[in-house]
This record gives sequence, structure tokens and C-alpha cells, in this order.
Amino acid sequence: MSSPRRNLLQQRWPRVVAHADMDAFYAAVEQLDDPTLRGRPVLVGGRSNRGVVLTASYEARPFGVGSAMPMARARKLCAQALIVPPRFERYQEISECVMRVFEDFSPQVEALSLDEAFLEMTGAEHVFGEPAQIGRRLKAAVYEATGGLSVSVGLSATKYVAKVASAHDKPDGLTVVPPQDARRWLAPLPVARLWGAGPKTQQRLTALGLHTIGDIAAAGLDYLQQHLGSAGEHFFELAHARDPRAISRRSARSIGCERTLAEDVSARAAIQVHLQRSADTIGRRLRRKGYRARGVRVKLKTTRFELLTRQRRLPEATDVAGVLYAAGAGLLDEFEHPGPFRLVGLAAYELTQTTEFQQLALFDVDTRQRQRRLESALDDISERFGPALVQRASTLADPSARGMAPTLDFLDVDTDDD
Ligand SMILES: [Mg+2]
Repeated sequence: MSSPRRNLLQQRWPRVVAHADMDAFYAAVEQLDDPTLRGRPVLVGGRSNRGVVLTASYEARPFGVGSAMPMARARKLCAQALIVPPRFERYQEISECVMRVFEDFSPQVEALSLDEAFLEMTGAEHVFGEPAQIGRRLKAAVYEATGGLSVSVGLSATKYVAKVASAHDKPDGLTVVPPQDARRWLAPLPVARLWGAGPKTQQRLTALGLHTIGDIAAAGLDYLQQHLGSAGEHFFELAHARDPRAISRRSARSIGCERTLAEDVSARAAIQVHLQRSADTIGRRLRRKGYRARGVRVKLKTTRFELLTRQRRLPEATDVAGVLYAAGAGLLDEFEHPGPFRLVGLAAYELTQTTEFQQLALFDVDTRQRQRRLESALDDISERFGPALVQRASTLADPSARGMAPTLDFLDVDTDDD
């Protein structure tokens, strides 16, 4: 097709990138499955006051409740909220359904998490229509396939702007930002919307008097580099809506390791030994496959075969076993059940390819890099002499663990499905 209209579209849109993000995903799934929850404030998370809110339904948000908030605080803010424990297997199932819809639209789908993905739509205009039409069709297809879930969609010519656009009009949003308008459209938004600007970076930017993305664009490259180093250039490029990153296939799957134990455990120290061993295995596999994980999940099975899970997103993607372990051990505080447990599992989820864009961390880089180098060195030794030779001093020091490795009194179950 070489109509003048299509040529004009190509000129104005050198690329078409969609970002699709399900609305209040976990809470929306609960409301879908249980009609009595619909239209009511729902918090998905552990009932314990030590737990955190994983997702708040849109009915709960006007009360000031949001994800990652301690449950105790959320209950104070919204006493009438219905608290629903998470069902990760169900979310995974719906996620697969949603990702299949995305794959009907594009051969290049990059999943960022269970409920969020980029779609490369360049050249698809002749199939699906202009960008706004692509967005409408995508939303309708997700609604249809899931039996009623809404997704917010952003379309622009770069990944960055598409992602900011999808969050712009949630829930059930559709925001199209033509490339020639992108810089102007970004300008009034707060610096918190810059990709890679965490709370510490935001503080630094505010201290420099830079409050909006327009302020960043106007600040000048030299000034930003001087105050922020290489991150300065990154933010300058984003503020000018320049982001050449391609859509790459990413896995939304997880790498996990769980052990059904020879003897039930309840002591925290004993559970931690198993988490440490699992974290070492997962870290090694992540590094071998060139993945980093953005989230960590701990799974405990009681002697009555009740399955309990808690999960947490990490501030940045990692393949360092020490970081996975620390997050997993921290999650133990969120389990109310005193045990004993017959199975201990750890999984790393939201996997991203290591070679891709890394969020620019301005702090604590040295410690993590040292830890990563150490673990990579251990990988080499393991590969040459077998993993039994390489054990952490902390694992060896624990008497309950000492007998464990050589006698193989646990069963490794690989939950990785790739
Ligand atoms: Mg979402």
C-alpha cells in the first residue's frame, strides 16, 4: 500500500510503540472472579498487620490507599475495605491469556511483568488502522478474552513515551501521543515520571530546582551531566522524548527452586538456610541465562498442605544471590503461620535480559558489583569442579544444613518452565 495517507502517517510516526498495562490487576481479577467484590474497595494482600497491600482496587484508592503500603495503615485509611489474600496462580493464568492477546497483535511483545507489556506496532497500521484504532482494538480484545478486565494503553513513537502515556488516564485509558507532540506533552509532568528516577534521584533533581520534565529538557546537557553524571544524559534524552530502545522479547516467567524437606522445619534459621541455598541456585541460573529478576517470591507449604506465598518487587533487577536471599528472608516476617513447614521455595520473577537497558542506580553500586563478581567467580569454580564444592560458610556453619547436602535428603523441584 502506498497511498499518500499512509506515507504521511509514516512520516509523522517513524515508529509505533504500544504500552499496555492492566488496571489494578490483582484486585480486578478478584472482582472478576467474585461478583460480590465488584464496585467495592478491595485490597489484595496478607491480612496480617505486618503484610503489605499488593494491589488496591480503584474503589479503595480515593482513601489514599496504594500498593506497597503496610496493611495496618491501609486498614486505618479505609476501614470498609475487603481484604483478599493473593492467588498468584490465578493471576499467572490470566496473564498468559492477556499475553496471548498481545501476541495476536504483534510478533514483538516485551512483557515487563505479569500485567504489562510493550508491543512493537510499526508497520501494523495497514492491519489494525491508525494508532488510536490499534489502541481501541487492543483494549476490546483484552476485555473480550478475559471476560471483562480493562487495560490502559499508551501509544507513541518510543517506549518511554508510550509507557508514560499508558499511565496517564488510568483506569481504562487510551492515550495517543503523536511523536511531534511528545516533548510538549511530557514537559508539565513531574520528574517522578522519568524512567529510572527513584526517590533519591527525585530528591536530587528537586534540590537542583528541577521539578518537571520540561525543566530537565531546558536545563541543558552539560549542567545535568555535571550534577548527575551519566544519568544526566539519560534523563536529558528522555525529556526530549528520545529513546531508541527496541522491543525485545522478554520472559514474564520465573525461575524457582523449592525443596520438599526430609524433616519439617519451623525455626526461622532453618528456613533461612533453605532460602540461601535456593537463592544461590537461582542466582547461578539467572547469570547463566543472562537474566535479571525484578521480584522475589517465597513459598511455604504447611504440614496440612496449605500453600502460603509472599512476594516483593525489588528496587532494581538483579542476578545477585545475596540480594535475592535478603529479599526472601525479609519476606519471612510477612507469614503469620508459625509452621511447621514441609516445603520451602524461592522464586525470582519478572525476568529481564541483562543486556537490556539497566535502570541507572546512582547509589550502592560498588557493594553490589563486588558481590556479583564474587558470585560469578563461584560460578566458574562450580562449573569446573561441581556445585558440591562451593558452599557458603553460612550454610556450612549451620548444623541442620551440614548433614543435608551430601545425603541428599531434600528433593529439588524445578519450577522453571522454559
Ligand atoms: Mg498494571
